[in-house]
This record gives sequence, structure tokens and C-alpha cells, in this order.
Amino acid sequence: MRIIFLGAPGSGKGTQAQRLVERHGIPQISTGDLLRAHVREVTELGRRAKSVMDAGQLVDDVTILSMVRERFSEADAARGFILDGFPRTIPQAYGLETMLAEIGKPLNAVILFDVDSALLVKRISGRRSCQDCGRVFNVHVAPAPVPPPCNGQCATPRLLQRPDDAEDTVAKRLEVYEVQTAPLVDFYRERGMLKTVQADASLSEVTARVEAALQCCA
Ligand code: AMP
Repeated sequence: MRIIFLGAPGSGKGTQAQRLVERHGIPQISTGDLLRAHVREVTELGRRAKSVMDAGQLVDDVTILSMVRERFSEADAARGFILDGFPRTIPQAYGLETMLAEIGKPLNAVILFDVDSALLVKRISGRRSCQDCGRVFNVHVAPAPVPPPCNGQCATPRLLQRPDDAEDTVAKRLEVYEVQTAPLVDFYRERGMLKTVQADASLSEVTARVEAALQCCA
């Protein structure tokens, strides 16, 4: 199964992708995670990307497409994938279409995570990720007083807030989404691939809605 999770920052794409990975045995490919790994490892790409990411802007299409092409060549991606945070611009969507045509494996569906914009800022500002395993949590959703453990993976999760989740950068990222990424909704609707999921419900309810939307292409 080859699917895209499309939606504004904070719409829950990454969290839902993590839940579906185990059930479907396909990797989540998050361009944000790939970029953050480059930043952590201080690669040349990471050095270039860091200031763009910290400002809430998009990394250029050529860089993103070559990073995705490289990721597609890894063995686990042959079974399929959930694309999370990619494509984010119309040129990236065309680039993806070309890459998939080359390997004769078209997309199965695009899931749009529809969330009231007022909720987005709250969700993003509550977001924390485990420094060790990368799993994402939300302090607004986690039961008080402690954040949930990393699904048993890390005994003592070290939770951090991403620099670009700070409130002033969030507004910029939402604006960038509206201008550069939201046009992908029509792009995929015109291709008959778009399935919209109302994503302002509980985690498990949204997972059930996503699974129902994917019934078509199992
Ligand atoms: P994310 O984790 O998906 O919210 O991405 C974090 C940041 O990485 C974004 O705000 C962008 O600066 C950059 N980024 C991630 N994916 C892309 C992409 N497909 N195109 C351009 N920039 C991206």
C-alpha cells in the first residue's frame, strides 16, 4: 500500500502514521524526520536545512525530492509506505508522480486529515517527542501527571519540544501550509485519490476512520 497523509502541522498525521506502521507492516516516511536526522548528524544538508526549518519555511523541492528518492531505494520501502509531510508543494507532487511511474507503483490513496484550525495551535504547542525512540506525544492529551512511556520502548522517556513547535514559528508554518501545501487537496481530488478524514476526535477514533478510508485499497 502506498499512501500519503496530507494535513496541516498538528493535524495528527505523524501520530496516526506511527499507529498504522505496525498494523500494515509498511514504513512511515516522514521528510521532517529525515531532515531532523540530517540536522542531528550535522550533515551538509542538515546545516542548510536547519535555518529554513527553524524559520518555519519549506526546504527546497530539489533537496526534498532527492532525499525521498534515496529513501525509496531502501529495502523496506518496496512493500509500500505512508508518506507523512511529503509532498508539500505542487512540484513535489509532480516529482513523486514521476518517481512512482518509473517504478510502476502508483499511489493507492491520499488521506486528508481535516482539523479545525483553532485546535492546531494547541496540539502543536503540546507536542513532545522522545529523544531516544522518536515517538510523538502530546502533553494536553497524555494522562496527568506523567507523560506516557514510549510504548514500553524507553524506560524513562526524554521528551523534548521541537524548536519549530514554539508558538511564534507555528503561525508561520500554518501560513506556509495554506499557501504552499493546501493546493495539493485539489491536485489529488482531481485525480480521484483524495479521502477526507475528520481528525478532531480521539486517537483511536481517528485510527478507525483512517482504516475505514483505506478499505478501498487494502
Ligand atoms: P514536519 O516534521 O513534517 O512538520 O517538518 C518540519 C519542517 O521540515 C517543516 O516545517 C519544513 O521546514 C521541513 N520539511 C519537512 N518536510 C518537507 C517537505 N516535504 N518539503 C519542504 N520542507 C519540508
